[in-house]
Amino acid sequence: MNFEEKRKKLVESLKSREILTKQNVIRAMLIVPRHKFVPKDAESSAYMDSPLSIGLGQTISAPHMNAMMCEYLELKEGDKVLEIGTGSGYHAALCAELVAPENSKTPGHIYTIERHEGLVENAKRSLKETGYDQNVTVIHGDGTLGFPKEAPYDKILVTAASPTKIPLPLRDQLIDGGILCIPAGSKSFSQNLYIIRKQGEHFDTTKITGVRFVPLIGKYGFESSD
Ligand code: SAM
Repeated sequence: MNFEEKRKKLVESLKSREILTKQNVIRAMLIVPRHKFVPKDAESSAYMDSPLSIGLGQTISAPHMNAMMCEYLELKEGDKVLEIGTGSGYHAALCAELVAPENSKTPGHIYTIERHEGLVENAKRSLKETGYDQNVTVIHGDGTLGFPKEAPYDKILVTAASPTKIPLPLRDQLIDGGILCIPAGSKSFSQNLYIIRKQGEHFDTTKITGVRFVPLIGKYGFESSD
């Protein structure tokens, strides 16, 4: 089976589990080549529904998690998105496919922050190779500070586990009516995924499910242990 066939099979399985329901997310998952975002020796596992190691102790999330987060964020053409935790760059590419589909008249943009320089370089290379570099800006730094220069954002996606549901700087960088998707809980994998909608001064919070993410390390996250 070639990569495209494997990708289709994965998407069919996510649809049958009712994880993938939205047409635009299904389309993006069918298009973005996950095998281009994983290390060469993991390419053959790229379309299994599991996280994979990307080096420096970090992982690319399982595809069902990418799909769920994209669906809950209600990503649409034109959205300006902040992602914290670029990792491989795959999730940023998926988001780009949703906010800036081909021939879009109002393309959105993804700003994505990663704390490990080595991963920043790899993600930039993969995004360039797949053509998503046009709509994705990769930034090296502490994502718990957000990226005030381009704020406010329509959507904020955090892909590492935070000690708090709304790290302070992100509160102000989300547009009124915007959505934050964030795993929060303990550093050692006992966490929940939350969807938080900003309504004026209020933040409507919905707990989605238990999850396991690597920790968010930074000023408004956990302390580094390395
Ligand atoms: N979204 C990624 C992908 O598609 O491959 C997967 C992200 S991985 C589960 C979490 C990432 O968050 C790791 O690469 C980690 O280095 C990064 N990270 C942790 N704390 C961070 C912070 N404060 N700022 C930026 N990146 C951070």
